[in-house]
Amino acid sequence: MSVLKIKDLHVSVGDKEILKGVNLTINTGEVHALLGPNGNGKSTLLSAIMGHPAYSVTKGSITLDDEDVLAMSVDERSRKGLFLGMQYPQSIPGVTNSDFLKAAINARREEPIRLFQFIKKLDKAIDELEMNEDLAHRYLNEGFSGGEKKRNEILQMKLLEPKFALLDEIDSGLDVDALRIVSESINNMRNDDLGMVIVSHYDRLYENIRPTHVHILVDGQIVVDGGYELIKKVNEEGFEWVKELGVTFK
Ligand code: ADP
Ligand code: MG
Ligand code: MG
Repeated sequence: MSVLKIKDLHVSVGDKEILKGVNLTINTGEVHALLGPNGNGKSTLLSAIMGHPAYSVTKGSITLDDEDVLAMSVDERSRKGLFLGMQYPQSIPGVTNSDFLKAAINARREEPIRLFQFIKKLDKAIDELEMNEDLAHRYLNEGFSGGEKKRNEILQMKLLEPKFALLDEIDSGLDVDALRIVSESINNMRNDDLGMVIVSHYDRLYENIRPTHVHILVDGQIVVDGGYELIKKVNEEGFEWVKELGVTFK
């Protein structure tokens, strides 16, 4: 079992403090839902775990099996098994999706993957995600629709087989069928060697995936922890009730 542990994490963007002491422990085998009103720091948390340079950690720690994640480069974090499925995937003109995926896989192996094996894996994943085959040979995310970009993040996750996957609004912009395909695909990847953090605004994804743990992040702190029942409560009542717990909102 692996453990990703976040302790008293403070993160700033420029001179603005966004995260104000986040505590969160994720074991492999668990699926954590991260909820919260917009602009309160969910993406900031996931980006800081992955090491995005815009987010500076001013206090606290992130460890992966007792190793200091904050001391690692983004590449190292990826090699150690962290993966971020982004809310706004970037396009890279000039680099094909398939070359990008191959490079990402090879960065994490001693020996480069054999082309035949790579193509087999890629074809299988594209098939499972019911993606258009030509997306593999187009430039990464260039001209992809919103839904295609999101599916492509899941495609990367499938091929990279991370230990911890952080999925940021992976379902936004997906139609009903795509949402079903993506959530089935995430469910199929569930196993004792994978931990996940899933940010979504929609009940539908969580209904299909049934997270084991649920957290509500408000104004840079996790203020409520619970189980699936929290998702139903938020779905019915929004976040207003959290205020009554004495939490100040943005
Ligand atoms: P959420 O994902 O919960 O909607 P974010 O983490 O994206 O919230 O944003 C939290 C706050 O941090 C917001 O006020 C947002 O404007 C600010 N913020 C996040 N990323 C950046 C950035 N790269 N540059 C400037 N401000 C940012
Ligand atoms: Mg947001
Ligand atoms: Mg966000």
